[in-house]
Formats: sequence, structure tokens, C-alpha cells
Amino acid sequence: MPLHVVRPKILGFISEDVSAWLVAVLVLLAGSILTGLLAWSTYNLNQQQLRQRFQLLASERYSRIEERFQDQEQRLDGLRRFFVNSDHVTRYDFEGYAKPLLRRTQAYAFAPLVSRAQRADFEQAVRREGQPGFAIVQLNAAGQMEPAGDQDDYAPVLYSQTQSPLGSPLGYDLLAQPLRRATLERARVLNGLAVSPPMHLVAVDPAYARGVLLAAPVRRAQDDPSPQARPYGFVLAVISLRQLVADGLPASASDNLSVRILDLSTEGQHEVLYESNNLPVTSHLGASRLLRLADRDYQVEIRPSAAFLHANHSSLTSLVILGSLLSLLLSALLYVLVSQRQRALALVEQRTRELRSREQELRGTHSQLRSVLNAATQVAIIATDLRGVISTFNAGAEQMLGYRSSEAVGHLTLESLHLPQELEAWAHSLSQRYGKPIEVSRAMLVEEGMAGGHEAREWTLVRRDGSHLQVNMLATPVLDDQGLWIGHLAICIDITERKRVHEALAARDRLLKKLSAHVPGGIYQFKLDADGHASFTYASDGIREIYEIEPQVLQENAAAVFERIHPEDVQRVRESIRISAQQLSPWREEYRVCLPQRGLRWMRGAATPESLSGGGVLWHGYISDISDLKRVEEELRALSVTDSLTGIHNRRYFQEQLQNEMQRLERGGGEMAVIMLDVDHFKRINDQYGHGVGDQVLRGLCERIGRRLRRTDVFCRLGGEEFMVLCRDTNARQALVLAEELWQGLRSSPIAPVGRVTASFGVASWREGEGADGLLLRADSGVYAAKQAGRDRVQAELP
Ligand code: GH3
Ligand code: MG
Ligand code: MG
Repeated sequence: MPLHVVRPKILGFISEDVSAWLVAVLVLLAGSILTGLLAWSTYNLNQQQLRQRFQLLASERYSRIEERFQDQEQRLDGLRRFFVNSDHVTRYDFEGYAKPLLRRTQAYAFAPLVSRAQRADFEQAVRREGQPGFAIVQLNAAGQMEPAGDQDDYAPVLYSQTQSPLGSPLGYDLLAQPLRRATLERARVLNGLAVSPPMHLVAVDPAYARGVLLAAPVRRAQDDPSPQARPYGFVLAVISLRQLVADGLPASASDNLSVRILDLSTEGQHEVLYESNNLPVTSHLGASRLLRLADRDYQVEIRPSAAFLHANHSSLTSLVILGSLLSLLLSALLYVLVSQRQRALALVEQRTRELRSREQELRGTHSQLRSVLNAATQVAIIATDLRGVISTFNAGAEQMLGYRSSEAVGHLTLESLHLPQELEAWAHSLSQRYGKPIEVSRAMLVEEGMAGGHEAREWTLVRRDGSHLQVNMLATPVLDDQGLWIGHLAICIDITERKRVHEALAARDRLLKKLSAHVPGGIYQFKLDADGHASFTYASDGIREIYEIEPQVLQENAAAVFERIHPEDVQRVRESIRISAQQLSPWREEYRVCLPQRGLRWMRGAATPESLSGGGVLWHGYISDISDLKRVEEELRALSVTDSLTGIHNRRYFQEQLQNEMQRLERGGGEMAVIMLDVDHFKRINDQYGHGVGDQVLRGLCERIGRRLRRTDVFCRLGGEEFMVLCRDTNARQALVLAEELWQGLRSSPIAPVGRVTASFGVASWREGEGADGLLLRADSGVYAAKQAGRDRVQAELP
């Protein structure tokens, strides 16, 4: 089924053809939108939570301040009641009552109202009570205390309980200072609590010096309690706003809220009564409420501080970053997934295509193999499984063995096709060779397993009709992909015909051997390769005798033969072989060989060349020992050029030598001379002593003349009693000297029984351009001239 029909979608909805980039960008976009939405809703939630939290904090802070304000009012009122309800409050009483109240209040004080008339007594009385330096004082312009001026009334601080280390400003006249005076006045008029505008507090730690004065009139029961009546005195609470509002709160740096309290009492001018050290941040958050202390209204403004915003830091940025990162990661992941999947699918498609083409190839190969198996009708191809049962039986096997493939496959074994006796015998010999029992059924396969299985062996197979068949069988193991042995493959070739041909060839070889054994000499086949290598491709046994070399040695290399050839002949032989090879002309050569045993021998070789396809030449030839023939030939030759009477060379030899010499001179120039002599009055010797003595004289003459000649001179009898000497490298003058020597030698040595024998000598030296006849004629003329001149002399060369 084709793969591309069903194409699943990535994640169920993304088509696989979509670019991985597009998917990544879409996911990134969706992720960004989601992140945006989430961020927006988180922001809203955050804002809401922030507002609620701020409001909670602000109302808590407001309640706390309000509570503290009310607390101050109540405590001062308590102190007032203490005075109202007591007959006489001593300093001790006051301190005992006021001390526990000193909480978030700088000081509590009591100031009686003293008229101008009472001043002196009052000061006197207080001094007596234990305040020796007591006087009613006021602050001058320089900030120093000085005795109060003359006034109607005074409200000097009599008792005071303070937290300040500066102590109490005893005697300080509160009415001397307008702001304080106005406050006491308001308290008196209201007959209740009055609060001063913000002012600089006296005798208070400068850090807390800004504050208000809370005052209440004391009207004792025994005095006139009506509001219009002159009060007995005033109780006062000195309140530092900083202490009141900020005490017990976290340090300003970590305070979530920034608080500001405005005094609204003064029309058109809202004085800041208190302001936190930490500055408010710009924010839409904020709360503002009114607060009342005694007779005044204050506005409390609460704003968030930096610490608040810090503590309620929004996780929005982290969310956006995280969301963006997640989107980016997701899109990258999808990109990788999609692109990898696309790559994988492409790979799958490619592999599928490859597989399909392989399958097709395999199918082709399979059918080819089948065709080959069946086309090989001359070869039987039989495959078996491991048990030996036949699994393939090709057309060649059918033809050879007479079984049909369907009869053989699955039914017969390879063993059943063999001749049992032969197989048993082979199994037996194998068992002996390997020293372990070899099964008959495996005998034809053992060699393959043990020795690589590449040796073919001849077997006798039995056909279906029972007749026998000689085959050459090659059995090899069949291995699967993993290299495991799964069966055997036997390839058989019918060798009946080959055997017949082999027999015929062997018979011809034997014939050739016999024939060549009866032929004197050796017959051979000599091959000269294109690269110059020479060998005797065939050499009969006769060749062994010819060269005293084993024919097998020559089959490899013919060099040994050339080592045997006489050094003077080897070059000639090589040259003649070269010419024969070049011209493809019959080779014929006579040459000497030097043999280790038989010494120097003459050989004659003749061969006919033919060219080989590779560029070499092949000769078929025959070599015979002609040493005997040569010897006879040489004897005959010696005879033919020897004068039988005298034993010196004859006229033929002289003419040959003269001819050679003339050729040499004509080629290269040089000198040569002849000396001719004729016995004087020989006829008379014959006549007088008989022919035999004449012959004897001739021999004696030859002996005497020959004795004086040089080795290079050629002495011949021309005929009768005429002789000739051929003198090589000799000019006319030298020849004349030699002739005179010979003449003297002859005439001075008598020949018995004749006595002195003389001869007439003629000399002729060769002249350039002159022929043999001319030369001889001039020598003959010399002899004639000597005869004419009286015989027994030497005639110098005639002009
Ligand atoms: P001349 O001084 O003029 O040469 O006189 P001559 O007698 O030598 O004259 P001529 O040359 O005519 O004679 C040669 C003789 O030599 C003739 C011949 O009978 C004799 N003669 C030739 N051949 C032989 C030979 O082989 N043996 C003997 N014994 N005599 C020979
Ligand atoms: Mg003579
Ligand atoms: Mg003569």
C-alpha cells in the first residue's frame, strides 16, 4: 500500500507540508497573545489587591492615630478630674498620678492661675515647699528665662512630670506667651479641652520639640464650678506629634505608609502638623480623613510609601518574561519537532523508494539468476540444505542426470547421485587422513569445509537410467547474511568429452616423445616474447644432449642456451634470430657450443618462425649435432686447397687468398706484394734424374722456401715447378728484399742428389686500381725477364 495515501497531521491539525517556520511563528504569536492576556488580568488583580491592602493599612493607621488622640484627651481629662476631686494636690500626689500616664506624652503639668496680688505669696509658698529658686519666669527674646513681667494673671508651671531629660520648666508662665495664653483662654471659655496650634515646645528634646499643648481648666468643687468663674488652674499635656503618631511604628524606611497630618483650624492656612520621614510615592492610592483632637480638626492624609510598593511588588514583569520565554521555548520545540518529523518523513519516503528499487533489482536479479541457472545447460547446479537434501536442480542437472527438477528437489540427496563405492572409498581415505571417522554422506563436502572448498574433484555420478557420468564437481558452502552455514552448492561439469580429448592429447604427446626420441638431435618450440624474453615452450629429450641442459630449465628461460654457445658465435646466432623474427624468414644457423662434458661441438639449427598475436614470435625447429660432418668438411676443404705433392697450398687456395686480400685493400687500402718463382731448367732435372727426383726437388725447394717465410705470407704451388708467395702488408722494396733472401736461401742450400737448385724470381706490388690479373701478369713478366737475363736471379719490380 502506498505510504502517501494516509498522511497524519502533526499534533492532529498541522498539515505536514506547512513550513516549520510558519508553525513556530504562529505558536510564538499565540503564546504572546496568551501571555498578554494573562499579564493584563494579573495586573488588574494586582491593582485591586494593592488597593484593598492599602485601604486596610490606611484605616488601621488612621484608627491607631485616632485612638492615640482620644487616649490623650481621656488621660488629660483624668488628670483634671484628679485635681477637681482632690482638696489639695501636693507635688507628690501629682507625680504619683501623672507618672504612669507618661506614655506618648512628653509631659504633664499643672499650672495654677495666680493673680498679680498673689504672685509674691505664691512664689514664697512654693520656695518654702522645697523649691528654693522658684520664681515665675518667662522666655525673653534671646530664649533665656527671666522673671515674668508685671501682669494681671500668671499661670506658672507648678508641677510637672516630663520624659524630657531637660527637666521641667518650673515657674514658666504660660500666659506670658500669646499662643499658650490663647489656648488656655479657649480652654477656660470652653470649660473643656483646648488644643494649641502647632508650636515649639519648651524644655523638650529638640527632636520632639514640635508639638501641641492640650489644656483643660481645673475648677474645684469648693470653688465656683461655673464655666464663667475664674478657674483654679490648668492641667496641660505637652504632646510631641512625632512621638504621638510615629511611636511604636516600624522604622520609616520599612513603613509602608507615609502619613501627613494637616491642621485645618486656621482658616486658609493648613499647617503641616506632622509628616512622616519617608516620602510618599506617586500613586493613585491615597486616603484622607478628618480627625478631631479637643477643639481642633486635623486632616490625616495617608499615602503609600516606597516600602509599600516594594513589599507589594508586582510579579507582572516576571510573568511577562516567563510567558515570553515559554512561548519562545514552545515555538522552538515545535519548530524542531515539525522540522524533524518532516525530515524523518522525507527520509522514510526516500528509504521506501530505495527499498522499492532494491526490491525491483532483487526481483530482476532473481529472475536473471533463474535464467542463468536454466541457461547453463552444460553445467549442473545443485543446491542442498544442511542435511544434503536437494533444494535447487537446474536444467543442466536435469539434462546431465536424467531426473526432472520436481523429482529431485526435496526427494533426493546429493549422496544418492554418487557412485556408492567411490564415495565410500573416498570417505575411508579421508578418515585416515584426518584421523577421525568421516560420514559417507559428507565425504564429497569434507574437502570444502577443511581446505577452503575451492578444489574441484572428479566424481562418478549415476544417472536416472543407472548409467555412469564422469563429472568435475566443485562443492562450496552456502552462507546466509550472518555468515551461518545453511547448505551446500555443487557445480558439476560433464567431463566425459574432456577426458576423451585429454586422452587423445596424451596419446599424441606420447607419439611425439617417441618420434623425437628416434630423431638424432632435438626438436623444439622456441618463443621470443615482445619484451625480449625467450623460452623453449617445447624441447624434446634430444635437446638435453645438444646443450647438456634439462629441457624443463629451458621451458622457463632460454638464456642458458646462449651461455653454452661459443663466444665467437653467440652474437651471430642472436643476430640471425633477430633477423628471422623481423622478416619472419626461416632461421638456419651453424654454430659451436662449449659443453661441460663433450667439449666443443658444432650444431646446426633450422626453424620456421610464425608471429604470435601478442607481438612475439614462435619458431618450430630442429637442432642437430654436425660436429662429425664439420670435421669431414674441414678435411675435404684442407685437401682441396693443398698441393698433394709438396703439402703447401695449391693454386686454388692462392687465388682465394689473393681475392680476399684484394677486397680488403680495395675497402681499406694498404700494401701487398707477390713474389713468383720458376725453377730453372727443371726439365733437365727430370730428364737427368727421373721424375721421382724431380718431385723430391720440388718438396726440398718448398721446405727451404717455407722456412724463410713469415707467418702471414701465403706460399702456394701454382703448378709444375712454378710457385707464388703472397706477402700481406708488404711494399715492393720489402718484397724485393724477401725475394732476394729466398733466392739466396735456395741457391745456397743444395738438394741431394741434384745439388744446387736455382730459380728465377719476379716481384710485383699491388697498385691502387689494379686487378689480380694485372698484378700476376707483372709478376710473371718479372720471372720472364729474370729468365731472359740468365736465370738464377731476382728481377726487381718492373715499372
Ligand atoms: P726454364 O729454365 O726455361 O724454365 O726451363 P725448364 O726446363 O724448367 O722449362 P719448362 O718450364 O718448359 O719445363 C717444365 C718441366 O717440368 C716440364 C715437365 O716435364 C716438368 N714437370 C712439370 N710438372 C712436373 C712434376 O710434377 N714432376 C716432375 N718431375 N716434373 C714435372
Ligand atoms: Mg722452369
Ligand atoms: Mg716452368
